[in-house]
Amino acid sequence: MTEVHRTGGLAELVCSNSFKSVDLSNAEGILKKEMEIMGSVVLDCAYKTRVPAGKALAVDRDKFSDCVTNKVLGAGVALIRKEITEIVPQENEIWVVATGPATSVSLSNYLTHILGEDFFHFFDAVAPIVTKESIDMDKAFIGDRYGIGSGDYINCPMTKEEYEAFWEELTKAETIPIEDFDKKYLFDRCRPVEDIAKSGKEALLYGPLKPKGLIDPKTGQEPYAVVQLRQDNIEGTLYNIVGFQTRLRWGEQKRVFRLIPCLRNAEFVRYGVMHRNIYVNSRETLDEFLRLKKDKRIVFAGQITGVEGYLESAATGLYVGYTIKRIVNGEEPVPLPRKTMLGSLIHYISKGALGKLKPMYVNFGIFPDIGIKDKKRRKQMIARIALEEMEKYVSEVN
Ligand SMILES: Cc1cc2nc3c(=O)[nH]c(=O)nc-3n(C[C@H](O)[C@H](O)[C@H](O)COP(=O)(O)OP(=O)(O)OC[C@H]3O[C@@H](n4cnc5c(N)ncnc54)[C@H](O)[C@@H]3O)c2cc1C
Repeated sequence: MTEVHRTGGLAELVCSNSFKSVDLSNAEGILKKEMEIMGSVVLDCAYKTRVPAGKALAVDRDKFSDCVTNKVLGAGVALIRKEITEIVPQENEIWVVATGPATSVSLSNYLTHILGEDFFHFFDAVAPIVTKESIDMDKAFIGDRYGIGSGDYINCPMTKEEYEAFWEELTKAETIPIEDFDKKYLFDRCRPVEDIAKSGKEALLYGPLKPKGLIDPKTGQEPYAVVQLRQDNIEGTLYNIVGFQTRLRWGEQKRVFRLIPCLRNAEFVRYGVMHRNIYVNSRETLDEFLRLKKDKRIVFAGQITGVEGYLESAATGLYVGYTIKRIVNGEEPVPLPRKTMLGSLIHYISKGALGKLKPMYVNFGIFPDIGIKDKKRRKQMIARIALEEMEKYVSEVN
């Protein structure tokens, strides 16, 4: 058992009992449909144990866990309850590491040892990520501090009045309480943006909102304060808010960060978090099939790969299952099409993310550009393309 699990049943939902929306106008709705096409046991059990929750797929958590447990045991899988402390596959063996965000200490230490400290993370300090198209470029300017760089940042200038209104709300906003365990990590690492703000009205001007060396071409002057946005994926469709790691509640992040003029209509694809989370740096250590680059008999699945969320974790497991089935049958594995939600998620964690990998859940921002500007039409088209591509993938690999 980990410190977050309670029952010993398989697929225990440790917090919410919801798998979010089934609506295909949401990225998670499309992911569910893709998993259905792939024949997901998790999703099948979710539908069988569904409880009323509008457009969300919520389940009776005990019945759901029983359903998954029965299906796994019914399929003849031997369940051995034992802590694994090292990974030593023999000839012809494949091991799947799916030990989740609360991987035990001994195994974490072992993984740090074989992967190296830079490739195994114990903590998320993630700043929010927004889509590029939702940034108001009329209010922003592109440029680097002291002109050093190649126009890498989008800068959001603020007047004194705008800054003060923002500071006021940031210092009053509701935060998630810090657990004792996290205190040590917070102390060791970076400070949340709201903590910096609380240390004085001008503190942010010497930290993440420092205007020094940034000239707004519209005025030819340094603004009073500047929020910088940095490209987050290779395609340049996502930007993170530099230095804005935060413990603000998600609703509060949307309310307060939208007070930054160029983020008035920002679409948040990832909210900021700071909490304990164990995951590997997939981009450096895993291939596109989530196999360890230096030993392909070791495969990773679930949240430990750098995805986040119940469904995203289950979906990576499903993909790994497809891959292993082919390898066991002596066939070459087939990569997921990039134009599926799951393929886009795997692409993001194994290739697409820039900087230190931040755990990611599915969203439209990670899907490749399909050349349609109108949001509603684009979402409809993405759903159609993704499901067609997934159908093709499944018929090809089976
Ligand atoms: C406190 C908390 C709340 C969360 N709330 C939500 C939420 O509301 N909604 C959401 O979508 N996601 C939530 N998540 C994220 C969610 O838990 C994960 O996305 C998902 O459950 C991860 O699935 P997994 O199969 O990768 O890992 P897990 O479900 O954690 O399963 C890993 C299993 O590996 C076992 N294990 C660990 N170490 C070892 C070892 N050395 N040897 C053998 N077995 C080992 C564990 O006991 C566990 O059974 C939450 C996570 C946490 C930590």
